Amino acid sequence: MEKLNEMTIDFLSKSQNESFARVVVAAFASQLDPTLDEIADIKTAVSEAVTNSIIHGYEDKVGIIRIKAVLYEDGIEIWVQDWGKGIEDVELAKQPLWTSKPELDRSGMGFTIMENFMDSLEVISKLGEGTTVKMYKKIKSKKS
Ligand code: ATP
Ligand code: MG
Repeated sequence: MEKLNEMTIDFLSKSQNESFARVVVAAFASQLDPTLDEIADIKTAVSEAVTNSIIHGYEDKVGIIRIKAVLYEDGIEIWVQDWGKGIEDVELAKQPLWTSKPELDRSGMGFTIMENFMDSLEVISKLGEGTTVKMYKKIKSKKS
């Protein structure tokens, strides 16, 4: 399918950037004329992925988070990447209610939320090297 547009941003893994990141991606996605529900889903999924990079990927350190988004006629592809600690067992991490940080009151629902709010979710991770979350959200054009 033809790429309509593309953007990449890098920012520090600071919690103030969670809302920045979801607003940027939502503004970019708005070129596809999404519904409010579609925008809300994208914002939630981006928030969950960025929060994971901040809390789990970099823990107490500060590192770079990169978001790349590509617009196609029928939807948006979003990558959220960090160069943090990585995930030992991705299949386990994706299980609902599984968290490595119960002491921080995490509920282990981030990946489940991303999976439910987006049309596809792929998690690519290597221990000690980092994590990339790749998501696709279909946008049903309101014009048609
Ligand atoms: P919640 O998202 O509900 O607050 P959570 O973050 O623990 O809780 P998930 O978002 O589903 O739950 O993530 C599951 C687990 O996967 C995390 O507990 C963590 O161990 C691991 N994980 C997720 N993202 C990353 C990442 N970017 N880097 C390293 N580990 C990660
Ligand atoms: Mg999470």
